[in-house]
Amino acid sequence: MARYIGPVCRLCRREGMKLFLKGDRCLTGKCSVDRRPSAPGQHGAANKKLKEYGLQLREKQKARRFYGVQEAQFKNYFVKADRAKGVTGENLLSLLESRLDNVVYRMGMAESRKEARQLVLHAHFRLNGKKVSVPSLIVKVGDVITLNETSRSSAKIKELIEGLETRIAPKWLDVDKTNVSAVVNAVPTRQDVDFPFEEHLIVELYSK
Ligand code: SF4
Repeated sequence: MARYIGPVCRLCRREGMKLFLKGDRCLTGKCSVDRRPSAPGQHGAANKKLKEYGLQLREKQKARRFYGVQEAQFKNYFVKADRAKGVTGENLLSLLESRLDNVVYRMGMAESRKEARQLVLHAHFRLNGKKVSVPSLIVKVGDVITLNETSRSSAKIKELIEGLETRIAPKWLDVDKTNVSAVVNAVPTRQDVDFPFEEHLIVELYSK
């Protein structure tokens, strides 16, 4: 399925909030949401009040765009979350948070989830010692993510390792900044997702 390759700031403006898709730039005065808070397009500035379906749809799109997941794959996560024990919305966020590209981002090795996805696609990381290149892999407790030794010579990777020093990992990841590795010490919970999702709206949307 085609991946969105247009301007990502437009996605944030559509959702009316920062989705932090561009890394450090999102924290500067250059952020489009700060400069032009209205939705993109000719009628973006019109103050449209969303009805129930609109609110649910926007919440789903927000989560999809935040984690960089395609529609079909997102639906699959929902099905999996619904079948698992516990609260479906919380299970869904836990699954999204456990994606390998998100783990690489959360351990501090990338400025954005998009950059983390690229790093995984280019096989810069190993999962439990094995080379991997699938960003959607779901990590489990005890999994070890390490940087490929051969990748260390790349100028870009060196720059990212320097950035690692300043980033703070969530408590469900034990990060070894010296060796550029991380161990998953717990399943991420709703409290570990540092974004104000209203996941019950997504559940309502898919439960229609
Ligand atoms: Fe979104 Fe970041 Fe662009 Fe701001 S700078 S609109 S947060 S992607």
